[in-house]
Amino acid sequence: MQSILIANRGEIALRIIKSCRKLGIRSIGVYSEADANAPYVRAADLAIHIGKSDPIASYLDQDKIIEAAHKSGAEGIHPGYGFLSENAAFARRCQAEGLIFIGPHPKAIEAMGDKAKAKSLMMEHGVPVVPGYQGTDQSEARILQESNKIGFPVLLKATAGGGGKGMRIVHQASEVKDAIAAAKREALNAFGNDNLIVEKYIQSGRHIEFQIFGDQHGNVIHLLERECSIQRRYQKVIEESPSPIMDDALRERMGTAAVLAAKALKYDNAGTVEFIYDQQSGNFYFLEVNTRLQVEHPVTEAITGLDLVERQIQAAMGEPLALEQADIVGNGYAVECRLYAEDPANDFLPLTGTVQHFAWPAVDGLRVDSAVESGSEISVYYDPMIAKLIVWGKNRTIAHRKMRYVLSQLLCLGTTTNQAFLQALFAHPDFQIGEYDTSFLTQHPDLARPAERSTAELNRFGIAASLYHWQQGESQRTLLRSIPSGWRNNYASSEHTDFAFGESELRMSYRYQHGRFDFGEAGQVKLLSASDTALCFEQDGMRYQFHIAVKAATLHLQNESLGSLQLLKKPRFPLKSVQKEAGTYQAPMPSQIIKILVQEGQSVASGDSLLVLSSMKMENTLTANQAGVVEAIYITEGSNVETGFVLLKLSETE
Ligand code: ADP
Ligand code: ADP
Ligand code: MG
Repeated sequence: MQSILIANRGEIALRIIKSCRKLGIRSIGVYSEADANAPYVRAADLAIHIGKSDPIASYLDQDKIIEAAHKSGAEGIHPGYGFLSENAAFARRCQAEGLIFIGPHPKAIEAMGDKAKAKSLMMEHGVPVVPGYQGTDQSEARILQESNKIGFPVLLKATAGGGGKGMRIVHQASEVKDAIAAAKREALNAFGNDNLIVEKYIQSGRHIEFQIFGDQHGNVIHLLERECSIQRRYQKVIEESPSPIMDDALRERMGTAAVLAAKALKYDNAGTVEFIYDQQSGNFYFLEVNTRLQVEHPVTEAITGLDLVERQIQAAMGEPLALEQADIVGNGYAVECRLYAEDPANDFLPLTGTVQHFAWPAVDGLRVDSAVESGSEISVYYDPMIAKLIVWGKNRTIAHRKMRYVLSQLLCLGTTTNQAFLQALFAHPDFQIGEYDTSFLTQHPDLARPAERSTAELNRFGIAASLYHWQQGESQRTLLRSIPSGWRNNYASSEHTDFAFGESELRMSYRYQHGRFDFGEAGQVKLLSASDTALCFEQDGMRYQFHIAVKAATLHLQNESLGSLQLLKKPRFPLKSVQKEAGTYQAPMPSQIIKILVQEGQSVASGDSLLVLSSMKMENTLTANQAGVVEAIYITEGSNVETGFVLLKLSETE
């Protein structure tokens, strides 16, 4: 293979380009409208525009991908993760078109694409699976009967599921009916198939997965485990290896089961066997095989020293693995954090925005796999992951210390991220000693709330914001020579600025004289340096450095020890606040309208579903909070709306 087309975007496209370059293989990128300026497009040796921003019209459009491959003379296709990576039909199509699909053979993908069939196959081969029901009778009565037999709590899962979608925990028989409806609706929307399986819900379960690797000559090994129990919405946030609970005996047992699973599939590339480990019984059970490269593969690379993408390419070309199980010895410890544009305090809802500054500290053992650079847009179309931070260390303690340092120094300004949440997580004593399970984040909602700040700390942000505005005013004054210079030095003139953050307000007043700022009770301050993006001041002999990004009236401020805060500068004369009209429903975040479930003139009851919105990977159903008649619908299916956009209006029935 001389050239490979990468049927993906973002950080994983960049990652694949790196290994191509290492092997002397030409990399061909594809991009949608929204990605025209993305770093990976520039990094590829050749890039081809394949369509509109919506993935359906670009990254998921098989015809366009195949056409781009032929046009560019690519001999292989790497699908990355997500998109077409676990699409057996696409893998087959590549073969039929004479292109090498860099992944396992299509039958393995197909066998694992359906959770019911996957479980049955694994049971046949003696791989332990979670006790449950995976039959074809999908009637409510049968699912209820099976749930009772399994014993509550149970977990309903979409057979076509992925990304945590179409899953519902059910605690008691009376909840089964609603849970089935909810899981089916979500599954149908996401996968076009609403079949379900039922599993015993493992209450203090740990998600432990094994990286597997096979070649076309029947060799299969595992490349140790990764623990990914820190999850929100059944999706991973942190991955680490070795797992804090792992010992040699358990690793031997789980590793053997993983290889057994891989052999059952005649697995011939990189994959991951996911297990849930029950801390109460010490048993572990098969969950699924992800038949692709995993987001968290760098953790394995860090402790094994292997380049998994390079190995994937070699395996797809038919080269033998040339590694035996005994060769695989983990070196030290690695942990990965996923930095997302999302709001932890608002149920980890994804957000859009522009990453105005993005930079990380130089720390030995740090690897950053990032989709963005300063100025990059996080759009509604794709996953809101900004970067993966991977730290290697001799042991867990050392690596975590480094990760905490990295998280405190990492600069990501312009959009709300989960950075402070990650910091709080790494500071939690139970996480530090490895005592956690998949319900950890649900059980510690405080980690997702913004930290309480003292008045002194808030004032420090206020000082930085005031100095920023003062400095901006000064530089304008020197340009406008008609204003008498020095008027600001007048001792009598006191400046004040009002800022708002969240529901709170901050009033900063100061006098400027002889190069010093007197902020009254907030302190005496000397401005040391200031630019458009950073400033430094001294207060009580201490230096404070702030990074700054501005968007309209909002200042994004970040300081290494204080974290970040967004301060909205309030206008001197506040605008009349816009009256929220009764009965209107607004978009909670930038979204795409997936489905409108009601019509104008229709009567609805309180709690009825009105419409389905999607933002990046999240789907939300908007429900009526009162009974009424749909008076007006202001949007159409498929349209994109900004936060606060009025979607529809209900008139009240008496
Ligand atoms: P799972 O491993 O939970 O089955 P999925 O197959 O849904 O997950 O997704 C695999 C990975 O692909 C996820 O970790 C997700 O971050 C990523 N992903 C999914 N959709 C997109 C997208 N539209 N853009 C970029 N990455 C995506
Ligand atoms: P997906 O294809 O969406 O990734 P998985 O079957 O891998 O679905 O499950 C996703 C997550 O849900 C797991 O990582 C785990 O945290 C949780 N989970 C899945 N099955 C169970 C179970 N039977 N008991 C407890 N938790 C489970
Ligand atoms: Mg999974």
